[in-house]
Amino acid sequence: MYKVWLTPTDIKQYFYCKAIPYLNHVMDVWEPQTEYKDQGKENHLNLQKLEKRRKSLLKHLKLPLNSKKLFRVPLKSQRLMIKGILDCLIITPNEYIPVEYKVARKPKKIPANHKYQITAYALLVEDSFNTIVRKAYIYYQVNDKLAKVNITDSLRRGIIKVLHELNEMINYEREPLIRPFLPKCKACLLNRVCPWSLI
Ligand code: SF4
Repeated sequence: MYKVWLTPTDIKQYFYCKAIPYLNHVMDVWEPQTEYKDQGKENHLNLQKLEKRRKSLLKHLKLPLNSKKLFRVPLKSQRLMIKGILDCLIITPNEYIPVEYKVARKPKKIPANHKYQITAYALLVEDSFNTIVRKAYIYYQVNDKLAKVNITDSLRRGIIKVLHELNEMINYEREPLIRPFLPKCKACLLNRVCPWSLI
């Protein structure tokens, strides 16, 4: 049904602005590597080191003693044609819990793009481990806060719908309907090359 391999990042970008996956996969235009992104990667690595010593996100969670944590877990679903590397997977005797780290401050309301990104990882965990994921977490490193996301059927349906739309857009080079929004364009690393940019 799906022809193109996509990632949870594509899904996150789609919810931020549909032009981004179009620019990436149809026009082959990608975000430049910036100092900020390099810093983000480095922070992720430092966080993992801390995590192994239970000094960051896991201090917020009461887990059964024999729970395991896996870091940088490569996941792939042939069924959905998505793949990605999950920051952390908690395995308790009862469940699998995906965790995504963000080098950012926890917003008052979790944005849709973050929720759908972690849901995509939850579906990858389900397909990879033949399980059902009920909840996931996003850890916002800057203010050391954890956000719980319940993996609902409505979020699952949202992912399927978006995968369908992304495949149509990419396979048929179909321009998405864009309503550019100045604050988003200002923060977007593609604003100098994007034909819809308001900058
Ligand atoms: S510049 Fe604006 S319209 Fe273009 S991809 Fe970025 S957010 Fe979307």
